[in-house]
Amino acid sequence: MTLTHETQPLVASDAELEAALDDAHLATLLACLAQNLGDTSILRDDLAPDTSTMAMRAAGGYTPDQLPKARAAALDALKRFRDAGAPVDPALPDSELPKILGFLTGGGLDGRYVPLLLEELAYPVKDARAPGWTVDELAPGRHFSAIIVGAGMSGLLAAYRCKQAGIDYTVIEKNPGVGGTWLENTYPGCRVDNSNHMYSYSFAQKLDWPYFYSTSGVLKEYLGDCAEAFGVKGKIQYNTEVVDATWNEDEATWQVRVKKAGGAMETLTANAFITATGQLNRPRLPDIEGRDSFEGPAFHSARWDHSVDLKGKAVAVIGNGASASQLIPEVAKDAAELYVFQRTPNWYASVPNYHDPVPEKLEWLFAHVPRYAQWYRFFLFWTTTEGLVPSARVDEGWDGNPASIGKANDELRALMIQYLERSFEDRPDLLEKVIPKYPPASKRIVLDNGVWPAALKRDNVHLVTEPIDRITPRGVQTSDGKEYAVDNVIYATGFQASKFLTPMEVYGRDGVSLNEQWDGDARAYMGVTVPYFPNFFMLYGPNTNIVVNGSTVYFAELEVKYTMHCLRLLMETGNGSLDVRPDVHDRYNEWIDRGNLGMAWGVAEVPSWYRNEKNRSAQNWPFTLLEFWDQTQDVNAEDYVLA
Ligand code: NAP
Repeated sequence: MTLTHETQPLVASDAELEAALDDAHLATLLACLAQNLGDTSILRDDLAPDTSTMAMRAAGGYTPDQLPKARAAALDALKRFRDAGAPVDPALPDSELPKILGFLTGGGLDGRYVPLLLEELAYPVKDARAPGWTVDELAPGRHFSAIIVGAGMSGLLAAYRCKQAGIDYTVIEKNPGVGGTWLENTYPGCRVDNSNHMYSYSFAQKLDWPYFYSTSGVLKEYLGDCAEAFGVKGKIQYNTEVVDATWNEDEATWQVRVKKAGGAMETLTANAFITATGQLNRPRLPDIEGRDSFEGPAFHSARWDHSVDLKGKAVAVIGNGASASQLIPEVAKDAAELYVFQRTPNWYASVPNYHDPVPEKLEWLFAHVPRYAQWYRFFLFWTTTEGLVPSARVDEGWDGNPASIGKANDELRALMIQYLERSFEDRPDLLEKVIPKYPPASKRIVLDNGVWPAALKRDNVHLVTEPIDRITPRGVQTSDGKEYAVDNVIYATGFQASKFLTPMEVYGRDGVSLNEQWDGDARAYMGVTVPYFPNFFMLYGPNTNIVVNGSTVYFAELEVKYTMHCLRLLMETGNGSLDVRPDVHDRYNEWIDRGNLGMAWGVAEVPSWYRNEKNRSAQNWPFTLLEFWDQTQDVNAEDYVLA
C-alpha cells in the first residue's frame, strides 16, 4: 500500500487494454476519458448510466444489454487516449464539466457542484483545501499556537494544516499511537462502511486500496502513513489525556491540563484549542441491572480483549447495531453457542462487494489512467452519499405507506425488505424478528454482503428478542425469566455520542462550563465554534455526522478548512481571539433543527444515538454535502466577536 496517487505511463497493447476492462467501472471510465480527451461526444445518451435506484447504482448504472456497448465505447476511447500519448492535462475545459456531471448523475447534479468537484477531482492531486497562508506572511513576528486533542483522522489533518500555516501545534493523544477509531476498534470483522476511494483525504488519495471497503487494520495503516507523510508525528504526545481546558481572558490563551502516562499532571498553554475526539469515542455500557455481577470476561466491542479466546465458548452479544453486525459473523465461527440479544432490528443494504479485494485489473486502470480513480471517487460521492439524501427526507403530506416517510424512503424500504426476505426465505421465524418497523435512515443502515444473515442462520447462533431483564453472575436473563448461561459477554452497545468531548471539561469566558452551557444538548456554529468559548474549535462536533453513508473525512476536511479561515481572520485583523455571536449561533441551530425535523432520524420514534437526552438530534447534518461545502468556504467576520 502506498500513498502515491500519480499514475504511470499508459503503455499497453490493444489486447491488454481490452482485458483491463473486465473489472472496470465503465460509466466513470467514459466520464474520465471524455475529460481527458476533451470529447464529450463519447458520452452518448444510450450509455448514460441509470443511477435512479440503489440496485442500478450497485450494478454500475448499466443493464446487461448496455454493458457490451459501454465496454466497446470505453475501449475505443481508451485506445485513442493511449495513442494521443495519454497526456496528464485534461483536454476538456472546466466549463464543460457539467456535461459530464449530467451524464453520470442523470441530471441529479448540476454546475453548482463544479467547484467542489474540482477540489475532489484535482489531478495530479493538489491540496486545494490547504490554508494558502502562513502566520509569518500575515502577521510577521507573531507566535500563535494550538493544542489539538486526538490523533485520529480529524486530528492528524488539523495538525497538518497548522503545520502548513506555521502555527506551533501540539497533539495530545490518549492512545499509544495514531488512528483514533481505527486504532481502538479491533473487534473481528471491523471495517469501514464507506468505500475507501471516497473515505480518504482528498489530497492523499491512494490508487492501491486492497479492498473496496477496508478493514480497520488497513485504515490504521493509511492514517499512520498519512501522519508520516504530513510530518506531524514528532508533535504528538501519546498516552496523554486532556483532563480540562480553561480560557484565560487576560492572556487570550487556553490552559490545558493533561494527565501523562504515569499519572503526572502538566499544564500546557496555547492560543487555540482544537478538539478532534470524534463522536464515537467513549464506549457506552448499558445500564442493565447486575452488569457488574457477571463472573466471566466481559468487554465492549471497542475495547476488544484479545486475550480472551472465544473458541468453544458460550457467548452473549448484547446489541445488534453496526458493530455487532460485523462481529457476529466472526464470533459465530469460533463460539460453541452465540446468543445475540437484539432490542431493535436494523435495516441492511445489500452490498455484494463489501468484503471484496479490489480486482487487479481495476487497480491497473486506476494506476494508469489519470483521473480515473478521481471520477470513481466522484461516482461514489453521488451514488452513496449526495444521491441518497432524498431517501432520508420526509415528503410533506406523504400519505403512502405509513411505515415510510416519503416516496424515495419507501422505495429504499422496499429494496431492503426484499433483501431481508431473500436472505431469510428459508427461516420465516427469523425473518419476522429482523424486519424493522421504523423508516429506513432513522438509524444507521448496515452494509451487508450476506454474511450477517448467514451467521444468524447457523445452528450455534440464537437470536433473542425478549428484552433483557438483568445480567446474572452466569449470564443474561430475559424478561420471560429465562437465563442464558454464557462464558463471555460482549457489549456491542455503542458510544456516548451525545456527550460530546466527555469526560473532558472545558471552561470558557468567565469560567462558564461547556457542559453546563450545553445542559445535555450540545450545539455549535458550523459544528465548530461555540459562543463564550474563544479560539475553541471542534472537529466532528455537533450536527456534523451524516447518516446516509456520507464520509466523515469530507466533513473533517471542511471543518478544518473553516477552522483555518477563523485563525486566518485573527492573523489578518491582529486580534487575539474570536468567538461566535450567540444570536448567529442560535439562528444557525434553529435552521439545523428545522432541517433535522425533515429527516427520518429527526421524526422516527426509534432509539438511536442520533438523539440526545432532550430528544433533539445534536449529531446529524440534515442537508446536502454541497451545502456544508458552501458554508465552510470562508468565515464571515460579522459572525464573530473579535477581541
Ligand atoms: P449502535 O449503533 O449505537 O448500536 C448499539 C446496539 O446496542 C443497538 O442494537 C442497541 O439497541 C443496543 N443496545 C444498547 N443498549 C442496550 C440495552 N440496554 N439493552 C439491549 N440492547 C442495547 O452502536 P454501534 O453498533 O457500535 O455503532 C455506532 C456507530 O458507529 C454506527 O452507527 C456507525 O456510525 C459507526 N460504525 C460504523 C461501522 C462501519 O463503518 N462499518 C461499524 C461499526 C460502527 P437499540 O437499537 O434498541 O438502541
